[in-house]
Amino acid sequence: MTARHEFDFAEIGRDVLARVDALARHSDSPVHYTRTWLSPAHRAAAAQLAEWMREAGMAVRVDGAGSVIGRYEGLAPGAKALVTGSHFDSVRNGGKYDGVVGILVPLACVADLHRQDLRLPHAIEVVAFADEEGARFQTSFLASRAFLGQFDPAIRDRRDADGIGFDEAMRAAGLDPAAIAADPRDPATIAAYVEVHIEQGPVLLEAGLPLGVVTVIAGGTRHRVTVTGAAGHAGTVPMASRRDALAAAAEMILAVESRARTGGGLVGTVGVLEVREGTGNVIPGHVEFTVDIRSGDDAVREAAERDVFARFEAIAAKRGVTVATRRNHAVRATPCSPRLQELLAESMSAVGVPVRRLASGAGHDAMVMAAATEVGMLFVRCGAGGVSHNPAETVTAEDAGLAVAALGEFFRKFAA
Ligand SMILES: [Zn+2]
Repeated sequence: MTARHEFDFAEIGRDVLARVDALARHSDSPVHYTRTWLSPAHRAAAAQLAEWMREAGMAVRVDGAGSVIGRYEGLAPGAKALVTGSHFDSVRNGGKYDGVVGILVPLACVADLHRQDLRLPHAIEVVAFADEEGARFQTSFLASRAFLGQFDPAIRDRRDADGIGFDEAMRAAGLDPAAIAADPRDPATIAAYVEVHIEQGPVLLEAGLPLGVVTVIAGGTRHRVTVTGAAGHAGTVPMASRRDALAAAAEMILAVESRARTGGGLVGTVGVLEVREGTGNVIPGHVEFTVDIRSGDDAVREAAERDVFARFEAIAAKRGVTVATRRNHAVRATPCSPRLQELLAESMSAVGVPVRRLASGAGHDAMVMAAATEVGMLFVRCGAGGVSHNPAETVTAEDAGLAVAALGEFFRKFAA
C-alpha cells in the first residue's frame, strides 16, 4: 500500500493553510501583506521556517543570500538531493500563498516521512528562497541565482526606496555582502528540482481541477515604445492635419492585443501608457508605452514580436508619426523535464486527481534552477478568479492537502 491512507487531505491542507496564515503575520506593513528581502518581518519569517524545518527532522542552514535550506538526509549520508522549494518574499500588497505554498507543502511531506521514520535513497532539501520578486532592490531571482553562485556584483550599488544600500541591508541582517554567492551549490549534488506554486491564473479554476503539471515556463520580452507626433491646439488643428501620437498608440495597443489572440500560448500586454505633458485641450505629441509579450514557444513569440513591430511601423507611416522601440528585458522559455512531468502526472493520478498539463505564464525560481538540473513544477489551483500578487489570492485547504499527497507520492516515485 502507498502511504495515501495516512492522509486526511483536508486536515493536512488545513495545517498548511494555518502555517500560511502564521507566516503572513510577518509583514512589513500592518495593513497589508508585504515581505521584502531582509526586512525585520522577513528575518522573523526565516526564523519561523527554520524552526518548522527542524521540527520536521531537517538539518537547517542559511545561505549567503538569507535563504533557509532544510535537508532531510537520505538512506546514505551525503546522497544527492531532490531539491524543492520556492520563495518567501512577496510583492508589495501581495497574496500570502505566492511562493510560500511551495515551501510549506514539501515541508508537510517531509514531516510525514519524519513521523513514519522513513528515509528515501536521496536526500530531500526544502529551500525557502529569500528573494524572488525583488521588490526591495528591483532584482529578479536574487536568491536562486545566489544559490547557484550566480550574482551580478553591480546590484550591490543599489539602494532601496528608503535610501538603504544593498550592502548595508545585508550587514544589518547579519549577512556578508561579499559572500552572497560565495558558496555555490554544486549541480552534481542535486538530483532534480521540483517547485510547487500557486498557478497565479484561472486555468485550473476554470477547468475545475485542483492541481496541474507545468510543461514549460514561458519566455518573454518587454519593450519600451515611444511614439512621436505633433502637439497642437485641440480647438484649432483640423482633424485631417493632425499627427496625434496617442491615437496612433491606441491603434498600436490594439494591434498587440489582436496578434496575441492568435494562439500558440501567446499573451501580450500593454501595462503602462504615458502621455507626456498631456492635458485635456492639447493634441498629444509624445506618448510612451510598454509591451510585454510571452509564450512557452520562443519561435512563436519571436514571430509575434516581428509582426507587432511591423504593424507599429505601418500604423506610424499611415498617421505621420514616428515610432521607436527599445527592448529592456528578454528571457527564453524553460521547458520542464518530460521525465519529471510524467512522474508528477502519475503522482496526481495516484491520489485521484485528473491530470491537466499547462504552461506557466509567470516566471519562477525553477527557471534559474534549470541551469543546474532538470526541473518540474506542480501548480495548485488559485481561487478568487485566479487572481495573484493581490490580497484576494486564495488556495483551499483541500487543494493544499492534495498537493501534499501528490508531492509525497512524487518523492516516492522519484526514489523508485
Ligand atoms: Zn511566486
